[in-house]
Amino acid sequence: MTDTDLIQQIREIVGDRGVLIGDDVSSRSCDPFRQVPAESPVIVRPASTEEVSQVVTLCHRLGQRIVTHGGRTGVSGGAYASSTEIILSLERMHRIEEICPTTQLAVVEAGVTIEALQNAVAEHGLFYPIDLNSKGTATVGGTIATNAGGNRVLRWGMTRQNVLGVEAVLADGTVVSAMNRLIKNNTGYDLKHVFIGTEGTLGIITRAVVRLVPAPASQTVAFVSVADNDALLALLLRARRLSILSAFEVMWPDYYDLVASSGTDRRPVEPGQGAYILIESMGYNPELDQQVFEEFLTEAFEAGVIVDAVTASSNKQIADLWRVREGAEIIVKEMSPFVSFDISVDVRHVDAFVDRAKQFLTANFETVRTATFGHLGDNNIHIAVHVGPDTTAQEAEVERCVFRALREFEGAITAEHGIGQTKREFLPEHKQPGEMVMMRRLRSALDPDKLLNHDVLF
Ligand SMILES: Cc1cc2nc3c(=O)[nH]c(=O)nc-3n(C[C@H](O)[C@H](O)[C@H](O)COP(=O)(O)OP(=O)(O)OC[C@H]3O[C@@H](n4cnc5c(N)ncnc54)[C@H](O)[C@@H]3O)c2cc1C
Repeated sequence: MTDTDLIQQIREIVGDRGVLIGDDVSSRSCDPFRQVPAESPVIVRPASTEEVSQVVTLCHRLGQRIVTHGGRTGVSGGAYASSTEIILSLERMHRIEEICPTTQLAVVEAGVTIEALQNAVAEHGLFYPIDLNSKGTATVGGTIATNAGGNRVLRWGMTRQNVLGVEAVLADGTVVSAMNRLIKNNTGYDLKHVFIGTEGTLGIITRAVVRLVPAPASQTVAFVSVADNDALLALLLRARRLSILSAFEVMWPDYYDLVASSGTDRRPVEPGQGAYILIESMGYNPELDQQVFEEFLTEAFEAGVIVDAVTASSNKQIADLWRVREGAEIIVKEMSPFVSFDISVDVRHVDAFVDRAKQFLTANFETVRTATFGHLGDNNIHIAVHVGPDTTAQEAEVERCVFRALREFEGAITAEHGIGQTKREFLPEHKQPGEMVMMRRLRSALDPDKLLNHDVLF
């Protein structure tokens, strides 16, 4: 069947609004940090689960491969699509169907952005705790498919902990409606986990039931510096004793120096220290929370753990301090092209790992620039690595250096972004053989022809 015939059949299912072709396809980048044009002949935009199912059934009959798109903010190439694959985008499925303050859940279509969900539930005094810098574009479906983490995992967990139910379409078009709304439900297999974190390889997520929490009444943020890694870990230990702790975000000097000198007013404390940390608390008793947070900071000062600190006293200042930590656009501007890592490593070894990775990088490349930061409270750090103008061509070698260091410390090659297409060659080295066997069996049971996200994971 020609592309034209295929597009015509798809058009009959989803209508004209549901089909994009030509420049509307090629002008879309499949990567948030660099231009990776979609090469597909068509982007299909169904408006309901039923339409998704019909499109997928048609593709299954024809042996047509599909790449699923959410907000295309994924940073491991999971949304890259070749000329032999069609793209199925959830962008028209963005209804918030229900927000229930009593049961503290929301029922949404998969194309809803995280920010839209957060804003909608805020009107009911509720909060969806998954919080990413990409929240304006990242979708509920994409965050479920990647089991996204973000800034508040140490308090409320990853996406997996915040999803109660999922509806998905399997590779043959079967609709699996596992829209559980109950916190406790052990009735057979909990099928939502088949779709959470499996990067769109086992089904296309169309709807979800997510958990909400009461909207916090207080938010306190401090930006501090510490002299060295020992002080950093001592501060983390102290911070963990705060029941209201909601974020512990660390910036190494390579990151902070870059952001602080960017001329964007992001220099809350003087550079020249060993590490910089944004600490946030969220609670339900503003006066008491403020007092507890200030006591924590004072004690850390008096114990000689903190060198310098500023505390935000208005919403604007809170946003300004978060902007220091969320300097992705500065990295893009100053360090492109770069390879980005989101590794997980035991907090006790993070510093040694970072040194080792840089050692391997400098031994292999003449020019090495890095920016290191991340969610240290959850063992997760990000490193952006630039090794010169041909960094993209050298990506695999850069990854080899970093992952070689990681192996020494038994870390994970991805903490939250997933394997996607860019890290797939490393997956077998970082999974046990039995785990690979089970993953392959699971995938071939649900999608024997690998029609969904064919080049993702393995
Ligand atoms: C500035 C910035 C900051 C970020 N910060 C974080 C962070 O703190 N924590 C974090 O975890 N990630 C972060 N990310 C990465 C990214 O936002 C997440 O991976 C997010 O979950 C991707 O959602 P998306 O809707 O954009 O999905 P996409 O990028 O469109 O897709 C990602 C993968 O999921 C699949 N997929 C998408 N939708 C569906 C669906 N409905 N059903 C099945 N499969 C689907 C795709 O095929 C692809 O493989 C960040 C990205 C940027 C650009």
